[in-house]
Amino acid sequence: MLIPQRGSIDNSSIKIYLRKNCLIRMYETIEKSHNEEGGKLIGRVSQNGSQIQVHIDSFLDSGPGIEHSATHIIPDGIYQESLFRVCESFDPNLEHLGSWHSHHCNGLQELSGGDISGYKKNVNNSNYNLDIFVAILLPKLSRNYHDYRFYIFLRNSERYYEIDSEDIEIIDGFYKLESLILQVEKNSFKRRRTQEQYLLAKEDEHHLKRIYPNIKCFIDEKKDLLFWRWEKKDYWNTQFRYEYTFNNDTSRWEGRIILMKNNQVTKEQKIVLDNFRFNKINSFNNPISKLGNNSMNFRFI
Ligand SMILES: [Zn+2]
Repeated sequence: MLIPQRGSIDNSSIKIYLRKNCLIRMYETIEKSHNEEGGKLIGRVSQNGSQIQVHIDSFLDSGPGIEHSATHIIPDGIYQESLFRVCESFDPNLEHLGSWHSHHCNGLQELSGGDISGYKKNVNNSNYNLDIFVAILLPKLSRNYHDYRFYIFLRNSERYYEIDSEDIEIIDGFYKLESLILQVEKNSFKRRRTQEQYLLAKEDEHHLKRIYPNIKCFIDEKKDLLFWRWEKKDYWNTQFRYEYTFNNDTSRWEGRIILMKNNQVTKEQKIVLDNFRFNKINSFNNPISKLGNNSMNFRFI
């Protein structure tokens, strides 16, 4: 366990090393998400004279049981703990160093009050092995991977410190367990997506059923797709069919809604699966006014 001298930790006596591939992986995670994302930092700590060196080798993703929104994140602790134990069995000196998370979806450029009190709790937890806890915040999406903030929390201290950029070094090279961690992460994201999609699907179905009680849900097993279909007649008794499908591409949070007339797609729109999607579905659901402009306005029966 590292015992830093109290009061001696300031920005000049700390050096943090983070592997570049991890930073890129963090940004790749948040790029695909409309909610806060994060992970558990792992690596090792050493002391060189009065300088404490924190080597962040990798991070463990937040797991399939993550709970998150645009303003909060609760990782799947059981998943992270068991993955950490697996890594530790191959690398006995491995330490849990802290965590990272993003505010790219809410615009807050600082740690929130909840973040600060949560990190203070973490570093003072009797199960936490070190006396320092590193918190990385990604406040926004960044193409050049430069928008990050690093903080240090200390055991038994009310203060926390932001680390100056010259005390952060982004280094090359891969952690020896990186490919294992990546493989597990891939499966985790797949499972997480299935679960989140299931929840979204439930919400969407509930919403659509209120408007169209005759809506039906279908599963295309060949394409592994879930979609809903409903029909509607306009004032002139023309039958329209709608289909709303979740995109099967795991890299994009997107649905697609189409309008069909005589088995021909006459209109389609992508629906980003965020909290505004119901409005988009509702405004799409208006063939009479939309088609009234470019199809027959009058029909004689
Ligand atoms: Zn936060």
